[in-house]
Amino acid sequence: MGRILFFLGLALVAWVLFKSWQRKQLGDKPGVGAQQKGNLGRKTQEEIMPCQHCGAYSPMSEGVMMQGRFYCGMEHAKAAGEKVH
Ligand SMILES: [Zn+2]
Repeated sequence: MGRILFFLGLALVAWVLFKSWQRKQLGDKPGVGAQQKGNLGRKTQEEIMPCQHCGAYSPMSEGVMMQGRFYCGMEHAKAAGEKVH
């Protein structure tokens, strides 16, 4: 009888471990999905700004911001007389 209880206990421990592992697996997936959604959201929210020198429109991440003015590249920031370090 004691032997059966021992195996029942063992099965219970295995079951609890399996359940917690399963919860971890399921819990990780929505987290990754939410992160990807956040990245996509940031991309679509990116502002397109006109260059103060040539007027070309570029996403903010591709250009440079100097003293509150946006330029499509470092060259145009320099050409417009910005102090580029
Ligand atoms: Zn430009």
